[in-house]
Amino acid sequence: MARGISHFPEWTHWVSEMKLVRDAKPDDFGVSVNCDICKQWRSVDLDAIIAMKGENFSLINKRFRCKLTPGCEGWNAFHYQSGVYRPLWTEAQADRWIYQDYERKRRVEAARAYIGALLTGNVVRDDPAPLGVDPNAWAIANDGERRRLIRQARG
Ligand SMILES: [Zn+2]
Repeated sequence: MARGISHFPEWTHWVSEMKLVRDAKPDDFGVSVNCDICKQWRSVDLDAIIAMKGENFSLINKRFRCKLTPGCEGWNAFHYQSGVYRPLWTEAQADRWIYQDYERKRRVEAARAYIGALLTGNVVRDDPAPLGVDPNAWAIANDGERRRLIRQARG
């Protein structure tokens, strides 16, 4: 059974409520953010978020590009502490994020292949690359270049 937003404790729904609960019992309650790539954790500055986004902003099912490590291309998402830290997103949202990441990767690869084809004057072909061959290079290579890519992949 998928758990929706009502699965999260009442105090985690809005940043203003999070601040009240955390400030009252900072040893028991907290809010943290972490990154799926660099794995850094940081305590969330609720005052700064309230100042920027207002009291009725929710951290549930939100993610942002990594702000924890310069240059990191990971995603930052939120956790609430109630005993242990627990994720502040639903399973349905996690599924949407996986799909969004897949779609973004697919679009970037298609754009790379298109630009590569423009640069080489070759036609883009979408048949899958053999094992060990870069899919972008494969997509824009002509037949002679493809033979060379296969030889390189075999070593
Ligand atoms: Zn990161």
